[in-house]
Amino acid sequence: MAVKTYSYTARDRLTANFLVTEFRCKCGRGHATILDPSLPQKVQQLMAAVGAVKVIVTSGYRCAYWDRSVGGTGYGMHTKGLAGDFIFYGRDGSVIRPEIVACKAQDLGISGIGKIDVRAIHLDIGPRKWWGDETVPGGTANSVTTDYYRYYGITRESYVTDLQRILNALGHKLTVDGLVGPKTLSAVKSHTIHQGDSGELVRWVQTRLQAKGYDCGSTDGIAGPVTMAAIAKWQRDHRLGEGYLGGGDWDAILT
Ligand SMILES: [Zn+2]
Ligand SMILES: [Zn+2]
Repeated sequence: MAVKTYSYTARDRLTANFLVTEFRCKCGRGHATILDPSLPQKVQQLMAAVGAVKVIVTSGYRCAYWDRSVGGTGYGMHTKGLAGDFIFYGRDGSVIRPEIVACKAQDLGISGIGKIDVRAIHLDIGPRKWWGDETVPGGTANSVTTDYYRYYGITRESYVTDLQRILNALGHKLTVDGLVGPKTLSAVKSHTIHQGDSGELVRWVQTRLQAKGYDCGSTDGIAGPVTMAAIAKWQRDHRLGEGYLGGGDWDAILT
């Protein structure tokens, strides 16, 4: 897409979650907003990828005067309508760590990414690839990484994010960050898989066991006899108690 000019009073809805007013320059002079609508579209995709329900634009378009006032050069990506600074919020109202957002932004191929502080992240769709970290020396001027997962030590295993989404659909309020933390463990341990159970959590277990070489017949989301036999064999092989899946079985299946 291309950069557009919106009058100061324009209230265009750019995506499901963003109005053009959120990207206005904050200099207070009431001038037009320059913005490439591809930016909010990308951020909207990113919201889905990280499981965000709300995003605050802390800084969108900046005129040259305002860009310099907030420490910029006066000609950076914000002045071209290609950048924004954002805080992502999860379902439970807490901030989604910029490190997680950076990883998912990388997955979406966003060209400009930079953690600003413990809450906010800079994102831009400028022509130059720049994956920085403004919290480290030199991280504003230069790319600090070619892989945010490695840089921040974050697992990129999608089976964890899949599980977190399934658990959230079951009423839990997890941050979908792909990390097996205490909240995710405690959430999954409140569930068991017995013969005859069905649903997405059963399908997740089937997919996970299949990946580990235990044949569940199919990943139909139904805990039938073949799936229960696969669970029992996997439990025997891991010296776990045989029977329904639950408790400490979840620790084992997640590693
Ligand atoms: Zn301005
Ligand atoms: Zn920025």
